Amino acid sequence: MSHADADGDAADTLFEKIIAGEIPADVVYQDASTFAFRDIRPQAKVHVLVVPKTRYRNVGELAAADPQLLSEVVATARKVAELEGIVESGYRVVFNTDSDAGQTVFHVHAHVLGGEPLGLFGA
Ligand code: 5GP
Repeated sequence: MSHADADGDAADTLFEKIIAGEIPADVVYQDASTFAFRDIRPQAKVHVLVVPKTRYRNVGELAAADPQLLSEVVATARKVAELEGIVESGYRVVFNTDSDAGQTVFHVHAHVLGGEPLGLFGA
């Protein structure tokens, strides 16, 4: 099954296949516009990925094209934190953006990390 993205690119990424249920994932939450599932290689006790159901390459493209949808992705990150019980202890929301940041899947996604003290990052 193929899903054209907002730019008309028909090539699926892994995350369209996960949203479509073609690749299994541990789904934490979904609503009309967003989808949240556990990262297969968790970097913290809680590590959930939040994606818009419509594909944009990265957070900058999403922000420029559909700021309302970006707001919904961030609201879902907060919802995930509530469901995981980490609002009080705190959590991190990260959008890796293109190659120097290590983005590997080019369907914008927020990493929601927490459940334990997180180290400093940037190294
Ligand atoms: P990026 O490096 O692009 O910011 O993050 C991509 C994330 O997708 C990585 O943290 C990686 O572990 C996760 N990932 C890669 N393949 C799969 C998969 O098949 N299932 C799930 N749930 N996560 C995946």
